[in-house]
Amino acid sequence: MAKMLTLRLPDGSTKEVPVDSRPRDVAESIGRRLAQAAIAAKVNGQVVDLDREFLSIPLTPPSPPGGEGEGTGGDAVPFQVLTEKDRDSLDVLRHSCAHVMARAVMRLFPGVQLAFGPATENGFYYDIDVTPPIKEEDFPRIEEEMRRVVKEAEPFERFERPTNEARALCEDLRQSYKVEHIDGDLKQFPTLSFYRQGEFIDLCRGPHIPHAGKVGAFKLMSIAGAYWKNDSSRKQLQRLYATAFFNQKDLDAYLKQAEEAKKRDHRVLGKQLRLFTISQSAGSGLILWMPRGATVRGLLETFIKEELLKRGYEPVYTPHIGRLELYRTSGHFPYYRDAQYPPMYFHPAGSALDLAQHRLAAGVLDDAKQQDLARYMELTRLDVPGYKEAKTGEQRLEAVHRYILGVLDAMSVELPAYREASTYPERAQRLLAWLSEQEGYLLKPMNCPHHIQIYKAEPRSYRDLPVRLAEFGTVYRYEQTGELSGMTRVRGFTQDDAHLFVTPEQIEAEMRGNIELVLFILSTLGLQDYRVRVGLRDPKSNKYVGSEENWNNAERTILDIVKNVGMNYTPEVGEAAFYGPKIDFVVRDCIGREWQLGTVQLDYNLPERFQLEYVGADNRTHRPVMIHRAPFGSMERFVGILIEHFAGAFPLWLAPEQIRIVTISEKAVDYARAVEKTFRDKGFRLSGDYRAEKIGHKVREAQLEKVPYMLVIGEKEQAAGTVAVRDRVDGDLGAKPIAKVLEDLQREVAEKRLRQISIGTAGLADTGAKYQD
Ligand SMILES: [Zn+2]
Ligand SMILES: [Zn+2]
Repeated sequence: MAKMLTLRLPDGSTKEVPVDSRPRDVAESIGRRLAQAAIAAKVNGQVVDLDREFLSIPLTPPSPPGGEGEGTGGDAVPFQVLTEKDRDSLDVLRHSCAHVMARAVMRLFPGVQLAFGPATENGFYYDIDVTPPIKEEDFPRIEEEMRRVVKEAEPFERFERPTNEARALCEDLRQSYKVEHIDGDLKQFPTLSFYRQGEFIDLCRGPHIPHAGKVGAFKLMSIAGAYWKNDSSRKQLQRLYATAFFNQKDLDAYLKQAEEAKKRDHRVLGKQLRLFTISQSAGSGLILWMPRGATVRGLLETFIKEELLKRGYEPVYTPHIGRLELYRTSGHFPYYRDAQYPPMYFHPAGSALDLAQHRLAAGVLDDAKQQDLARYMELTRLDVPGYKEAKTGEQRLEAVHRYILGVLDAMSVELPAYREASTYPERAQRLLAWLSEQEGYLLKPMNCPHHIQIYKAEPRSYRDLPVRLAEFGTVYRYEQTGELSGMTRVRGFTQDDAHLFVTPEQIEAEMRGNIELVLFILSTLGLQDYRVRVGLRDPKSNKYVGSEENWNNAERTILDIVKNVGMNYTPEVGEAAFYGPKIDFVVRDCIGREWQLGTVQLDYNLPERFQLEYVGADNRTHRPVMIHRAPFGSMERFVGILIEHFAGAFPLWLAPEQIRIVTISEKAVDYARAVEKTFRDKGFRLSGDYRAEKIGHKVREAQLEKVPYMLVIGEKEQAAGTVAVRDRVDGDLGAKPIAKVLEDLQREVAEKRLRQISIGTAGLADTGAKYQD
């Protein structure tokens, strides 16, 4: 009799199955409808084919889902049948559709070489090499062929081969990139898997949908250039982007959303509305706020500052740089140095040796890491002679070592300890010791260490706690050039940061207060649709600081709190900050896209690293706990998201220009100027368009600039002491007395009212035809 395996189903019950059975058998035993709806299965956290035998699935011990604590089932393996409803299924579908696309392309274009073809957040791509290159005009043909493949609904069949045979098979298939991939990253595996669909065979880890008929709807989107293995020194390929869904309705909704997103792109609107700019002379990824954008940001900052005052926060200011020593204590340096601007040393040899030390300490690297570091060295202009030409890891280290000796000699640094060391790790160690004695500074990657120094500046008693220190603090991270994007991925950004220093008893109330604050702020801006993610540490990773006990404590507390608050949440392993677990608010904007915004983090570790104390009621010293939180995250990112959320049409209270006065006749200009002054004196931000242009033209211009209100003034209005009001949302409201308009608009601002034009027509509701003359 076959050996048995115990599965734990999502409802907590268990099921014994033979190890040579398949997920499909389990689905069928549960119900025929489930089996029909099944796309794939999740076994022990791993998504697998329905027809994969359990015994062929490597079953490492299940990692706990982060203190969920149901704890039943003993050694049972978590098992779930995935249907269209599960997000994982969509990835499986999309990667399967990538095979369908590759198959169609190979039928139509002989000699196609395939590289990689993964699923992405919004679809999938396949990198291919073919001459002549594919053009977008070819898409209808390719889609036609894909439809044929889908209609035939042939199964995806998995098979394995020992690695040398797999290589031979790829050679037979004339797929040279696959061969190269096997010779590189895959040679460490004893066997490799393939998927066959009709005549099409692809080296592939899977998993796949049972048959191509499950692909409900797909569309080819675009073509871009992409380097083989993302390495710019290798061959450039064509990347075919596409997307797929289980049904046409979902695809249509996605395409509509993508079109809407394009209209709202903050990089386009930011330029058009003169909100911000990025200058290569000032530096990539560094936002220059133009007056209109700065106005929006200032208003948001004031909004938060007022709210914080009410909630017992105290403002602080801290500088943009800090001593390396400070970040060594906090753990930000050197752990995260790849993500930071290089440090500044006083010693002229400091910077060069610092980078070289970093490279030496990294040792012999795998391909991916080697590429990363080489790029980093290039960016930071660490030019090590002989490094690029070096073939092996050892040769690279030797080149760095020779370079270091050269720097030491040129700068007359004796450092016998380094010269006497005989191994690379030893050399790295000794160089680090020397560097640690040098005075150096870092652009600050986070505000916490500075706020901690303010906490430490005076003795604290339990009566002073909680201490809540708030600052719009600007921090710097060195994002890779390719990852930079408008305001949402930048190298310098200002966090709406605060740090709370609390007693253990105060944690829950303060965390709740912060959750409430985040939700209040988001709902004020019309971002009420959110989900909560609890970021926990990945026990297998070494990027976290602090003791097991601290982490367990913090994770238990944070999970208790989200449960007590009654929020729906998903725990996510590996999403914690390096010092503690966190709660992230993932917000859905008005066209259904998700953005990670506010964060609240619980930290037992930095207080320990910095030896923070307070005197308790018992007259003894105790250690406070820290809460880090930022409701917006960063001003840059948040404003970028708001631009897209509002399609550039900010609500009245946030609009950089709230009112535009538009004259119909030159004779009314004096009256119009007087009206302008009246509104300005009441604190409104406005301008007057008194040019002798046609009124229709002036109105359209104000509409394009998304000004919420226009006050149109001609001789008639002058005679009656009124203004004709044009509302961005409701259109023409007719003539009204000035006092009434003032009162209405003041109320709209005070209430921070959100009045948006419905989706799809934002800013285009009215063409101003009424004023055409
Ligand atoms: Zn594949
Ligand atoms: Zn912090």
